[in-house]
Amino acid sequence: MIVVLRPNITKKEENAVLKEIRKLGYTPHTMRGVERTVIGAIGDELTHHTLEPLTAWPQVEQVMPVQKRYKLVSREAHTGNSVARVRGLSIGGKRVHVMAGPCSVEDEKQLMTTAHAVKKAGATILRGGAFKPRTSPYEFQGLGEKGLKLLAKARKETGLPIITELLSQDHAEMVAEYADILQIGTRNAQNFQLLIAAAKTGKPVLLKRGLSMKIEEWLLAGEYVLANENPNLMFCERGIRTFETYTRNTLDLSAVPIIKQESHCPIVIDPSQGAGRADLVQAMCKGAVAMGADALLIEVHPDPSKAWSDGAQQLTLESFGKLMTELKPFVAAAGREPAW
Ligand code: PEP
Ligand code: MN
Repeated sequence: MIVVLRPNITKKEENAVLKEIRKLGYTPHTMRGVERTVIGAIGDELTHHTLEPLTAWPQVEQVMPVQKRYKLVSREAHTGNSVARVRGLSIGGKRVHVMAGPCSVEDEKQLMTTAHAVKKAGATILRGGAFKPRTSPYEFQGLGEKGLKLLAKARKETGLPIITELLSQDHAEMVAEYADILQIGTRNAQNFQLLIAAAKTGKPVLLKRGLSMKIEEWLLAGEYVLANENPNLMFCERGIRTFETYTRNTLDLSAVPIIKQESHCPIVIDPSQGAGRADLVQAMCKGAVAMGADALLIEVHPDPSKAWSDGAQQLTLESFGKLMTELKPFVAAAGREPAW
């Protein structure tokens, strides 16, 4: 930590700060400039008490951290790329995976039709929401456990592992019984008790970025998963809220190289929530893959015009097939291999 003292303070006031720094387990090193005195407080910021309360002291101008606040998700903790293992698949390795399926599980026919079609096109994981976080309580809330049962049936028929959202701590055990990956949605990205509950199920966790979450906050949310002894964490960028209205959210593709620099965990891009428009999904997928995304999470529906949620952004079965073919050279250009 760096502690900047105010100018013109007394020696006694300075000594009081030095005493406090030592008391909190740091070794102070004083640097005297012409105008200001700065104290470098040496110690592990993650294991020592924070020096931040010193900002309330009248003789202190500023306290600045030097170390990153996250540890386990950080690149420093793990120099290679970590890989999330999902039923024999590796997310974060050489192969780029596509997770696809409807926004919500609606009924058996809708899910099975989509599951078979996305598998045929090359998806390796089936998505589908059984518990839906809806902005309005009057909108479709998902089929609940019935939806999970349908997802399990689709997995049995197609062999595709399934990813589905965990909305509440109360459902952690139940959802984990069916799902191969637990999705933590944007609205719950800083619901720390939910993150702990998800981590403790031992299932891989895909953590969406919160709607207005800084990357540091997202990394710290991910830290909760790793700190609770679950190494299978994936970050998923799904667009953040900005002033732009041409898209539902602003898909922040700069998150891909930033997460790659800061963390060893895989990064997944969700262009469907990201753009909110089916016509943009293809371009965003190409961009994501070119930038180094490890996987894509794409919404696909047999008839988006009749979807019970997110109709405007879901691809038809046909356009998904076309996308998968067109994506291949982009995956190869990024030095990776398509998993399809
Ligand atoms: C979804 O994947 O359908 C979803 C609700 O995602 P998000 O939490 O990113 O809005
Ligand atoms: Mn959706």
